Amino acid sequence: MIKFDNVSKRYPEGHDALRDVSFSLNRGEMAFLTGHSGAGKSTLLKLIMLMERASRGQVSIAGQDLAQFSRDDIPYHRRRIGVVFQNHQLLFDRSVFENVALPLHISGYDEEDIGKRVRAALDKVGLLHKEKLNPITLSTGEQQRIGIARAIVHKPQVLLADEPTGNLDPALSEEIMRLFMEFNLHGTTVLIATHDLALVSRMPYRTLTLDQGRLING
Ligand code: ADP
Ligand code: ADP
Repeated sequence: MIKFDNVSKRYPEGHDALRDVSFSLNRGEMAFLTGHSGAGKSTLLKLIMLMERASRGQVSIAGQDLAQFSRDDIPYHRRRIGVVFQNHQLLFDRSVFENVALPLHISGYDEEDIGKRVRAALDKVGLLHKEKLNPITLSTGEQQRIGIARAIVHKPQVLLADEPTGNLDPALSEEIMRLFMEFNLHGTTVLIATHDLALVSRMPYRTLTLDQGRLING
């Protein structure tokens, strides 16, 4: 589902953020991506989302070489991928419902369809009863779950997360990880970047480790 072939990424004026990275993640697989700050985790995720382009090598998603995608193809590509951020990037001038509905509005779904899908997503993260509230009134763990509902509302084939438990205590972190496991059990391919090694070691999943841009296991 996700395939990197000898991928390197050099930022303008920067050094190499990724060096000769190769791995593949099968459809329906779940894995962690670990490494120190600056190891290249965010860069690897950005290449998958086409927020950045590889300098060398090939990144493919579902068998399609991303180098073939033009700027106009990017919105179509992004619809296949859900992304969860550490700071969840919620809009505090809108309700929980509206925050989750955002990607569907952008994709042009009709209102009835949006209502159904948003409620299904909120139900999956246990927040259906809070749809009318402003996210600022919810706890940190709940806010992160809204971010997850927004990432899965269009039923992406691939779910990426960049430090999704960075601001959470161990109990809430486990709760968030269990949500990712559930989506994975339903067939979603999941890749989670985290430096929480204690959490990773308690979970029965493959771990890809980056060290200064090189993949040192996986
Ligand atoms: P991580 O997510 O593991 O902390 P990043 O992918 O954010 O690592 O960063 C990898 C390296 O690339 C770091 O040295 C970082 O400073 C550099 N880097 C990341 N983004 C940019 C950018 N937009 N321009 C220049 N250098 C960058
Ligand atoms: P994280 O560690 O959570 O990935 P970073 O602090 O590495 O966050 O990066 C935050 C943002 O700044 C990212 O969009 C990244 O691409 C950008 N960035 C990181 N390092 C550099 C850099 N050296 N020059 C320019 N942009 C950078």
